[in-house]
Amino acid sequence: MYILEASGLSKAYSSGQGAKQLVLREIQLQIAQGEFVAVMGPSGSGKSTLLYTISGMDGISAGRVVFKGREISSLAEEELAKLRLHGMGFIFQQMHLLKNLNIRDNIILPAYRANKNRRGSINKKAAELMKRTGIAALAERDITQVSGGQMQRAAICRALINEPDILFGDEPTGALNSKAAGEIMEIIAEIHQTGTTILLVTHDTKVAAQAERVLYMLDGSIAAEHRLGRYEKRNNDLKAREEKLTAW
Ligand code: ADP
Ligand code: MG
Repeated sequence: MYILEASGLSKAYSSGQGAKQLVLREIQLQIAQGEFVAVMGPSGSGKSTLLYTISGMDGISAGRVVFKGREISSLAEEELAKLRLHGMGFIFQQMHLLKNLNIRDNIILPAYRANKNRRGSINKKAAELMKRTGIAALAERDITQVSGGQMQRAAICRALINEPDILFGDEPTGALNSKAAGEIMEIIAEIHQTGTTILLVTHDTKVAAQAERVLYMLDGSIAAEHRLGRYEKRNNDLKAREEKLTAW
């Protein structure tokens, strides 16, 4: 069963004087429930655009996108926003946390938007997520008072607060040092192990090595695909996969 399916997905941007630049070219992509897919490829190849269009964050120029059996490309805006709020979580390279709120308030904000009447259970869920990602002690801390890795942990908690079916990530380790990046990847791998589907754009073969399938984008198309299968959490296993991807 596919949780997310794109067929003939194209995206064009107008590049002035009526000319159009085709950024995604009839993408076919099927993501199975619980799968972990990484997207690699050179800068400008359309990775972010794929993520934003397939999640309904941005409109498409042609084709279809189906999420949990519903064609999101034809949903009314309000309906789509609701589906995204409940079914999808997002993390980015720039964490987009609100600077005037503390860590906890950043995390629970989407939950209040989704379901205003369950303060108790929302706070409990937030506490659980902060514990799971190792930032329980930072709940009251201002966003400006924590490290990049801690900010990304908070952003992950925020993305998971509504228990989404799928987590999208656009280079979530891109702004972090390698130690912090490794820790964030471990958290993402754990999230996958609890059953969440993951679609993750990354430049880092170390990060991609954790996925079950890696797509390689070139000039708006999926030029190659590499199936790594479920990984075992052993260092030499991950190392071998990373070498495979580097060679590829
Ligand atoms: P990647 O994430 O692989 O680096 P992007 O998806 O960000 O690539 O961009 C793919 C292409 O689309 C690039 O040529 C970029 O300049 C163009 N592009 C991205 N977003 C916009 C936009 N909002 N308006 C116009 N062109 C855009
Ligand atoms: Mg990008």
